[in-house]
Amino acid sequence: MDLILTPAQRAFRREVQTFLATHLTAEMRQGQMLTAGVYPEPDVSRPWHHALYRKGWVAPLWPVEYGGSGWTTIERFIFESECALAGAPVVYPIGVRLAAPVILAFGSEEQKRTYLPRILSGEDYWCQGFSEPGAGSDLASLQTRAVLEGDHYTINGSKIWTTHAHHANRMFALVRTANTPRKQDGISFIVIDMQSPGVEIRPIISIGGEHDINQVFFTDVRVPPSGLIGEVNAGWSYAKYLLEFERGTGLFSSRLRSGLKRIERAIDALEAADRHIRDNMDLMARLADVAIEIDVFEMLELMTLGLLEPGQRPGPTSSVLKLRASRLKQTVGELGVEILGPSALRWQDHPEDVLSVIVPDYLNSRAATIFGGASEVQLGIIAKSLAGV
Ligand SMILES: Cc1cc2nc3c(=O)[nH]c(=O)nc-3n(C[C@H](O)[C@H](O)[C@H](O)COP(=O)(O)OP(=O)(O)OC[C@H]3O[C@@H](n4cnc5c(N)ncnc54)[C@H](O)[C@@H]3O)c2cc1C
Repeated sequence: MDLILTPAQRAFRREVQTFLATHLTAEMRQGQMLTAGVYPEPDVSRPWHHALYRKGWVAPLWPVEYGGSGWTTIERFIFESECALAGAPVVYPIGVRLAAPVILAFGSEEQKRTYLPRILSGEDYWCQGFSEPGAGSDLASLQTRAVLEGDHYTINGSKIWTTHAHHANRMFALVRTANTPRKQDGISFIVIDMQSPGVEIRPIISIGGEHDINQVFFTDVRVPPSGLIGEVNAGWSYAKYLLEFERGTGLFSSRLRSGLKRIERAIDALEAADRHIRDNMDLMARLADVAIEIDVFEMLELMTLGLLEPGQRPGPTSSVLKLRASRLKQTVGELGVEILGPSALRWQDHPEDVLSVIVPDYLNSRAATIFGGASEVQLGIIAKSLAGV
């Protein structure tokens, strides 16, 4: 991959910059800056999603005939970097980046026509129903059951840690449709309407104080067979396909750099209050070290993305990216708290200010090595791929 931008790529960068200058509002930037959870709230991300939709820029990885932006890897990288640099909200990915690849690869034509335009326009907001109280890393142990009864499936059970379930109108879920000797062989991939009778959502408040995640209960929830994606009992292979996209297509480096930028802003605020943070050479050197580590990580991401032209899968390399990005996220968070020093204990004194978000961001970053598959699980995947088993 050639990293010297061609004249056409430089022109594309200018087009992105102009778009950002025109459509990214101060409220959107402020909303993203104050987001300590994994994703911004819909009132922050939706207006940005709509602006991108009108431009045809919501779905870089989709085929053009379904509304994909038709970018090369480098164009996608330019777009993501410029968005992060400008402080644009993170586009909520569960529909665009997780549900859609599975629907595109395994869904029927009717399912593509039903779901994809509404994901693209932002009309539908999805959540991911994989984990259960007794099934996280050992996902195949899941117990939520879907039984075919006449003209519908009846779903009973519970999903947990479901991000933004309280905002979502659709969930893609893994459900047990058969008891088979190998647990993986009795799992199906199904779409659930979150407004259905029998769906109950209970909030779980995170260590940083946000309501991002939930436990969802299903009591005799009816789903038409048209909600089943692909073949019955083949959901495990679709889930593995999806998880590669969850872990390996995010372009984390630009967002990691936004985290550093937020710390820079916090330093400015502290200096303005007569705290001479920049005189601390040790802290400044560590800030520079992290910036370099993010640059190196960016090269790794680009190498991986170079393999990911439309139709390509990220494969086990996605686990390498997830492992490294989550640890870097935590390092950035730790550095932020160190820079605040003892005043970190009084972070709630600064509402609506950059100083209010450093500590909850650090606290929430503890989850980065858990969600999307825990670090130990990623190490297992990498080891198996190296050993060829
Ligand atoms: C903030 C957040 C948001 C989330 N959002 C969603 C969501 O939207 N949808 C969804 O479905 N899930 C979601 N999850 C759930 C997430 O995917 C699980 O938490 C994760 O897969 C780990 O499962 P667990 O919590 O059951 O922990 P466990 O699997 O019980 O793991 C506990 C510990 O044991 C270790 N361990 C487990 N197996 C092994 C092994 N084989 N070898 C070595 N060590 C092992 C783990 O690494 C971990 O340290 C979210 C989680 C968090 C924290």
